[in-house]
Amino acid sequence: MSKSKSSESVKVVVRCRPMNEKERAAKYESVVSVDVKLGQIIVRNPRESSGNELPKIFTFDAVYGWNSKQLEMYDETFRPLVESVLLGFNGTIFAYGQTGTGKTYTMEGVRNDPEKRGVIPNSFEHIFTHISRSQNQQYLVRASYLEIYQEEIRDLLSKDQSRRLELRERPDTGVYVKDLSSFVTKSVREIEHVMNVGNQNRSVGATNMNEHSSRSHAIFVITVECSELGVDGENHIRVGKLNLVDLAGSERQTKTGAQGERLKEATKINLSLSALGNVISALVDGRSSHIPYRDSKLTRLLQDSLGGNARTVMVANIGPASYNVEETLTTLRYSNRAK
Ligand code: ADP
Ligand code: MG
Repeated sequence: MSKSKSSESVKVVVRCRPMNEKERAAKYESVVSVDVKLGQIIVRNPRESSGNELPKIFTFDAVYGWNSKQLEMYDETFRPLVESVLLGFNGTIFAYGQTGTGKTYTMEGVRNDPEKRGVIPNSFEHIFTHISRSQNQQYLVRASYLEIYQEEIRDLLSKDQSRRLELRERPDTGVYVKDLSSFVTKSVREIEHVMNVGNQNRSVGATNMNEHSSRSHAIFVITVECSELGVDGENHIRVGKLNLVDLAGSERQTKTGAQGERLKEATKINLSLSALGNVISALVDGRSSHIPYRDSKLTRLLQDSLGGNARTVMVANIGPASYNVEETLTTLRYSNRAK
């Protein structure tokens, strides 16, 4: 079967983190195997469960096991997308998965450990190295950082962290966040500083950072403007935008017996994740004439960077331990549908 154009521009990969200390100490069984060659994730039935169902097999564009290296993943999966942003296209990288499976590890990685840096710092390095080697182009790099929490948008770089921003639409430029701040950055150090400021603001007001980050979407946006003198003697400008998205945890919050505010919040989180799943599967399907961007803030905001000429990589993060098997299967089904 021939793939549609959009299915080539959307890639879904899965990354399984290693067992952590706690899981090893508790001697949990690993139920996930990763077949890198075939691009397959195999999930066995945990021993303690009844019945003898066959293992479930899922195939993706690429899969990464417990010992996958950040840089290897960057080169194979993320570099081509960032490269296209440098050429003036839009691109979006999502980290999806249950809380504790490695979304932030994939996006940001471990600070002060160069080998464990995630996509965001690696893309900084990539972009500024590219610029330093360019000869006849002038570049302007701008960074913004925002968060969507309960369908409300907060500018993580603004002085006023209590303010909520609105989505607006203009016929010429499309959907944008009104009054979102953006900073021109001229080096890796400067853009890292912007990221750090945003991360600090993100934790302000959150009584429990882990809980807060598991319920909100963080979006780091890098805009790369390139101007070049054409043979016609005119300056030509192209603009590419890179969205780096650490999504809210995908665990089914409604199952946890949440009530009142919590339940309302849970419903909203699930809404934007399911809206995202619907948009991506409609894009991959390629036959849908209607892409339901308008169903959530997240998908509206990213509308110009999902589909069309834009490239998307969704990294679905999972854990290997048996006690997580239901959430793991839910994540794999979501991502498989997105494929
Ligand atoms: P999430 O953002 O999805 O809630 P984290 O990225 O915070 O999850 O990861 C949870 C823990 O697991 C962290 O301590 C992180 O360093 C570790 N971890 C996640 N993925 C990996 C991996 N691929 N290799 C090693 N450690 C990992
Ligand atoms: Mg996280």
